[in-house]
Amino acid sequence: MIPAKSYAAQSATTPLGPWSFERREPGEHDVVIDILYCGVCHSDIHQARDEWGGSIYPMVPGHEIVGRITRVGSHVKDFKVGDLAGIGCFVDSCRVCESCKEGLEQYCETFLSGTYNGYEQDRKTPTYGGYSTRIVVDEKYTLHISPKLPLEGVAPLLCAGITTWSPLREWKVGKGHKLGVLGLGGLGHMAVKLGVALGAEVTMLSSSASKEQDAKKLGAHKFALTKDAKALAQYAGYFDFIIDTVSAQHDFSTFLNLLKRDGTLILVGAPPKPIDFPAFGIIPRRRRIAGSMIGGIRETQEMLDFCAEHNIVSDVEVINIKDINAAYERMLKGDVRYRFVIDIASLK
Ligand code: NAP
Ligand code: ZN
Ligand code: ZN
Repeated sequence: MIPAKSYAAQSATTPLGPWSFERREPGEHDVVIDILYCGVCHSDIHQARDEWGGSIYPMVPGHEIVGRITRVGSHVKDFKVGDLAGIGCFVDSCRVCESCKEGLEQYCETFLSGTYNGYEQDRKTPTYGGYSTRIVVDEKYTLHISPKLPLEGVAPLLCAGITTWSPLREWKVGKGHKLGVLGLGGLGHMAVKLGVALGAEVTMLSSSASKEQDAKKLGAHKFALTKDAKALAQYAGYFDFIIDTVSAQHDFSTFLNLLKRDGTLILVGAPPKPIDFPAFGIIPRRRRIAGSMIGGIRETQEMLDFCAEHNIVSDVEVINIKDINAAYERMLKGDVRYRFVIDIASLK
């Protein structure tokens, strides 16, 4: 077995703290990764605190993982010792259902093995995430990372990047489209950067006036304060797409009204409570509400390659693992610019 140090939640109400455990011996198709950086996603908070239900403890969160390969199984073809590697939100899937066969493993119809708070394909071995020193994963679920970009800025691409990239590509968002991004946090800032890189006109819709300058620096063409009804009124019927990244309850009708005819509100934020919206928010202009979950392995590699080519990384605040609980509190207040990333050296 391979010993690993981590920070884990022992229950929904305890802060994260040090915990040691063992990873499996690498199989023929596995790589062993020494983790260098792990991003902090709002989903880590939702799950550590059991806000979505069904959380498994002890829980080692973290699914924005970048590291270096230290061992490879005898049948590993695509990676060698010393390569950089990334792991995103899942570490396995059934591999045979329609979605898996289409490269949309995130929608596996049989059983998806989440990187943490889940189980391996045997459905009984718990998975532990990236707030840890090492991870063992099948090479099929491992991503290639370019050495060109700063690794701490690359880590958040493995969730925040792909979660916003996937719907932008699915709906072919680009030149000629007006894209609204709701919520300027980890996902939101990547949606701005990627939307701009794909050629869309991007408007940041934020509840924080203090983020206006940053939104412009990230590349947003316009900014509207969502608390300011007058400012929002200017955008009535304006957007082709809105990507909604907000992690907490919020009013949907306000934002549906900003869509033009046939416009789509793409929900990626996952507030724990059910969402309610008025029928006449979508009927009159044939508007749509859609959901989207992370992205498949092939698509994630495409996004990583696109980011390497276009010099796109996340804007990060690197933290010591000891500051993880304080970072959660700051995220809950919307005080993140724009992704916390744990320096895993602080765990060693
Ligand atoms: P984050 O960094 O904490 O950002 C969320 C942003 O939402 C905040 O910065 C804030 O932006 C806004 N916000 C927060 N609370 C709000 C409130 N009460 N009212 C209005 N706006 C509020 O979170 P994240 O990591 O980007 O994740 C966002 C959501 O996406 C989470 O629910 C997460 O679980 C979910 N998620 C989904 C997927 C998927 O596959 N669909 C993948 C990853 C994450 P402003 O200050 O600009 O308003
Ligand atoms: Zn995430
Ligand atoms: Zn499957």
